[in-house]
Amino acid sequence: MSNVGKLAIYPGTFDPITNGHLDIIQRAVNLFDRVIVGVTTNPAKTPLFSAGERVEMIQKSVSNMASVAVEHFDGLLMDYAKKKAANVVVRGLRAITDFEFEFQMALVNRRLAEHIVTVFLMPNEKYTYLNSTIVKEVAKFGGDVSSFVPKDVDERLRKKFNHS
Ligand code: ADP
Repeated sequence: MSNVGKLAIYPGTFDPITNGHLDIIQRAVNLFDRVIVGVTTNPAKTPLFSAGERVEMIQKSVSNMASVAVEHFDGLLMDYAKKKAANVVVRGLRAITDFEFEFQMALVNRRLAEHIVTVFLMPNEKYTYLNSTIVKEVAKFGGDVSSFVPKDVDERLRKKFNHS
């Protein structure tokens, strides 16, 4: 990957990646020269998948997208974004309920790094109800999540919850 052009970081927990996340990644790919999916761990939550597993699952799902890299990071997003010399932070907006939290975070992040722009992208409306938590809930009780997540993620969820 070259170091010229606009670099966007798409940060999140991705526990696990869903088709909604992938929709946002594809939109970011269409807009920016390079995209880094930044996998982090929310200190308030215990993830189902380790950071390494989450990175691996994303790598598999974006293997057809040449301009995308997947990395794990710790600490403040804006410190990471500055270190990478990113121009943009991408976040997905599903519904009005996402707005208040995302708005607050974007404004704080702007104070931390004035030159890095937060951009909100909307997924296809068929993904607006999707999040990793609901996928885990359904998978835990043996429900079919194959239309919500990539195939590899579906298989890993079955394994985690001992469903074949
Ligand atoms: P976080 O724990 O930081 O919210 P997530 O992994 O839940 O991380 O989500 C990362 C980003 O992807 C967030 O901007 C979130 O709004 C967005 N996102 C999550 N699910 C979807 C979806 N179904 N459609 C569009 N964006 C989504």
